[in-house]
Amino acid sequence: MEETKQGLFIVVSAPSGAGKTSILREFRKIYPEVMFSVSHTTRPPRPGEVDGRDYHFVSETTFRELIAQDEFAEWEENFGCLYGTSGRIMTGFLSEGRDVLLDIEPRGARSIKGKYSGGVYVFILPTSLSELQRRLLGRGDHPSRITNRLARAAAEIGESICYDYVIINEHLPLAVDNLRAIYLAEKSRRERMMGKIEDILNVNKGQE
Ligand code: 5GP
Repeated sequence: MEETKQGLFIVVSAPSGAGKTSILREFRKIYPEVMFSVSHTTRPPRPGEVDGRDYHFVSETTFRELIAQDEFAEWEENFGCLYGTSGRIMTGFLSEGRDVLLDIEPRGARSIKGKYSGGVYVFILPTSLSELQRRLLGRGDHPSRITNRLARAAAEIGESICYDYVIINEHLPLAVDNLRAIYLAEKSRRERMMGKIEDILNVNKGQE
């Protein structure tokens, strides 16, 4: 029964430019009680990003020290920078019964899947690669980086087969609805409701 008190974790991946950040931002506004796993990264902050909220921005030396201290449940290099998920923080939230949202790319997602059971894996797709290219151009990415990111996106989209759910991001509000639907359905799974069912039965017993 202990198992049912654990929080639920949702891993969300998407090729760069598919709109994942916007979807997650809206989802987090609706469910502020869902904890966001703030990754560590050696990438410099982008305008508007806040240390400790969007990422823990650290130097490569610090990052490598954290690897040596076994802090990360997984870590990967993306586009020349290092990114890692703190296993201690993630499992801490889950054991408190809190749900956790993780934004990680497919290789990291695969490592998490190999280490922890019971997660939900969601992949966000653009409507097409040409739409992805249009979004990357609109974002002002350098053309050489765009070619790089499109090649990587095609490879990552192939990874969607390992995920439980796929959301095609044609329209932001609809994509957010899809993520909410997945979350709510997963929360309502009978095996995750066992603790609640027992509570209901116990309250009734007390009233007899
Ligand atoms: P960005 O630099 O655009 O914020 O993120 C680049 C990529 O790194 C995204 O695909 C994002 O999902 C991924 N990422 C962010 N945090 C982590 C992490 O902790 N581990 C892994 N493996 N990837 C991450």
